[in-house]
Amino acid sequence: MTDGGTSGKICNKSFLIKAKKLLLLLILWMFFWKEPAAPIFPQTAVSPQIQRVVIDAGHGGKDSGAIYPAGLLEKDLTLDVAQKVRRGLVDSGLRVIMTRDTDVFIPLPNRSKVSQKKNADLFVSIHANASLNKSLRGLEVYSLSELSREQLPVFGGSGEDLSGFNLKSLPETYADMGLKRVVWLLKMAKDRLDSALLARWIAGTVAHSVPVAAHRVKEANFYVLRWAQCPAVLVEMGYGTNHQDEIRLKSFHYRTRLAESIVSGILNYKKEYEKTKGFSA
Ligand SMILES: [Zn+2]
Repeated sequence: MTDGGTSGKICNKSFLIKAKKLLLLLILWMFFWKEPAAPIFPQTAVSPQIQRVVIDAGHGGKDSGAIYPAGLLEKDLTLDVAQKVRRGLVDSGLRVIMTRDTDVFIPLPNRSKVSQKKNADLFVSIHANASLNKSLRGLEVYSLSELSREQLPVFGGSGEDLSGFNLKSLPETYADMGLKRVVWLLKMAKDRLDSALLARWIAGTVAHSVPVAAHRVKEANFYVLRWAQCPAVLVEMGYGTNHQDEIRLKSFHYRTRLAESIVSGILNYKKEYEKTKGFSA
């Protein structure tokens, strides 16, 4: 049994307290609320599409990258495959921006800036691997690993330079609330997830169509991935320090097939991305 009278009073009392709290919150909300000057997030197309891809041929010029036992230079392999990938993507109707198209040295920050300036939808960096362990072989595709607090960009002064993300387009009223930073971090988190999916699509498609010894999807904190400002992966085509991988990488035919399968991996990702409205459907 319960004492209906007492509990009724208690209920009334707690209801009054809740009502007072709600009233206070409502007054505060009415007092402080300001209509946003513009939507927080830019109006985007209903169906997000992948149209612009940055292809980054690793190393170049004075930076030869790895030098393999038979004399192959990593910078030559990366440029050759990057150009082949470009051809395949352009033939499929995509716009491709190369960070380099000749044997020239491009500093790492400039490579990332290309994706920012050109408002790229994807960033794919091409490299070949090297290891003291000569038995290591196979393809590896990297996406960005989680950044530590220290590695996260800091906004201060005109900190927009660091991110490259178009923060200025956001309404000024939000700047003081730190919302710009929140929006940027959310975008970064989404890019990280999409990068991991892109890495899987590329590695899986390559392994399906080219006789790679192994294929691994990994995470690392590579500079070019950190500042790409869009989903970004780094493809290590194989270990030039492994004899069998070196023979394959030396082969024009193998590099062509490898490039074609990287293209197919990107197109598979694009198809899935667009079908699911940016993996949100
Ligand atoms: Zn490299």
